[in-house]
Amino acid sequence: MPKHIISGLKYIAAVNLRKQGQTQREIAQALDMDRSTVSHYLNGRNLSWNSIEIAEIVTHFCPKDFLILTHALLNDTERTRTIIQTCTDSKFEGIIRNSCIGCGICVDTCLMKAIVLNDLKAHINDEWCCGCLICMELCQTNSIEIKEVVD
Ligand code: SF4
Ligand code: SF4
Repeated sequence: MPKHIISGLKYIAAVNLRKQGQTQREIAQALDMDRSTVSHYLNGRNLSWNSIEIAEIVTHFCPKDFLILTHALLNDTERTRTIIQTCTDSKFEGIIRNSCIGCGICVDTCLMKAIVLNDLKAHINDEWCCGCLICMELCQTNSIEIKEVVD
């Protein structure tokens, strides 16, 4: 079952990356696939529609569950980032308050690796933040605010 979910997620991501103008070579690299498989996927071959339907359901999980499941299945930050970013439309902004004590817990727990410590203060790279709120829940000084960006 996990392999079916990964295949379905990669199919959805491949289709979306193609819509964004990426070549088959770029898609293969981004998703760690061989080019022939990408070609098959883009032509609707070598993949069961059941896998795609299950993956579609997964992409509609809340951001936290989608991220945890995807990261657990792929065990790879770069691929996880690609899948999450190409399969969701939402954008988020992270704000760190002055109460941050630079403990680094949020840095260690962010599965998207979107947080770094600079001068003993956390900084969130909004490009990678998927709004899972794990950092916010774990920060002991309540220093993190994550807001969805509405166009
Ligand atoms: S967990 Fe909170 S206090 Fe610790 S570095 Fe992150 S924002 Fe700062
Ligand atoms: S909400 Fe926090 S833990 Fe989740 S991706 Fe954004 S910065 Fe990382």
